Amino acid sequence: MNNSTHITVTSPLLPDINEFHCLLEEIWKSKWITNNGSFHKRLEKELAAYLKVPYLSLFTNGTLPLLTALQALRITGEVITTPYSFVATTHSIWWNGCKPVFVDIDPKTGNIDPEKIEAAITPKTTAILPVHVYGQPCNIARIQEIADKYGLKVIYDAAHAFGVEVDGKSILEAGDLSTLSFHATKVFNTIEGGAMIMHDEATKKRIDDLKNFGFHDEVTVVGPGINSKMDEVRAAYGLLNLKQVDNAIANRKKVAFRYRSELGGVEGLSFFDDIPSVKHNYSYFPVFVDSDKFGMSRDELYQKMKGNNILGRRYFYPLISDFSTYRGCSGAEASNLPYARKMADSVICLPMHHQLSESDVTRIIECIVG
Ligand SMILES: *Cc1c(COP(=O)(O)O)cnc(C)c1O
Repeated sequence: MNNSTHITVTSPLLPDINEFHCLLEEIWKSKWITNNGSFHKRLEKELAAYLKVPYLSLFTNGTLPLLTALQALRITGEVITTPYSFVATTHSIWWNGCKPVFVDIDPKTGNIDPEKIEAAITPKTTAILPVHVYGQPCNIARIQEIADKYGLKVIYDAAHAFGVEVDGKSILEAGDLSTLSFHATKVFNTIEGGAMIMHDEATKKRIDDLKNFGFHDEVTVVGPGINSKMDEVRAAYGLLNLKQVDNAIANRKKVAFRYRSELGGVEGLSFFDDIPSVKHNYSYFPVFVDSDKFGMSRDELYQKMKGNNILGRRYFYPLISDFSTYRGCSGAEASNLPYARKMADSVICLPMHHQLSESDVTRIIECIVG
């Protein structure tokens, strides 16, 4: 067995370099390199069709559509969110001058527990910002019911949920707005990039203005917009990656199924079930370590893998509510977040990408159980 080669936790999906070069030549010839060029328009159209959503606006990363979503919906005061996510989720609340209020997760999904949302609502609450963590769908029906009852907006951080469907319907249509990340580490990438999904054309136009400094036309600025436009080079790269993303997901699925079947019986390890009504994207493979039963803590397993040149990732650890910036926020107390804390302390994401070979997976499994 070759233990010297490095197995990384992720590996970017890269387009064929010659095909990319052809598109670069087109861009060079056109001399149109950013500001809603032809590749930008094509990628928006093809992504909307692929994702089965009516309207989509490209962004330069996955953080700025979150910021812009809160701005566009004029969110103020308090925003209810999950501590079990990537820190950008909560940063977007902070950048809008609002206060995050943390609510615990449902241990069965890793997502915000809808049944704990109502207790966190105050007269200052204006929105809920849930995350489809690891691409696992939130309980969107229940969250909408609560939002409707209290007149709250719902913005989904769907950074992990590229292509995820429930009963054949995209989960990106849930809530008022959803956002995606196309960062290099995600299932579909444009190196850096992202998108927002909306329900109507008027909102799409408003978002397109806001991501371009608020310019509506040459002489009209509709608001203090940011600059978050995707350029032509990355839009062209994205078009090529879109052609191969189904293959990449199929490869990931094979890896997930082997992890599932070969680690399923291991005492002290558990993972989420595949939900039959859900079209998964296999973006991550989180495993939860019960140290008493497994005979090793999560951190010991992480180090053991590292010693064998296999990189796992403690994702998400620490909880966002444990970072010094957010420690004083409402709901951040340890006693309020027992399930999130337990998940953060026991999780390790195994290597998961389209290029893992069968022997790589064998090596990873043998390292874990050996
Ligand atoms: C990756 C990610 C983001 C941020 O996306 P970037 O494209 O890196 O800016 C936001 N939220 C979650 C949950 C993420 O995983």
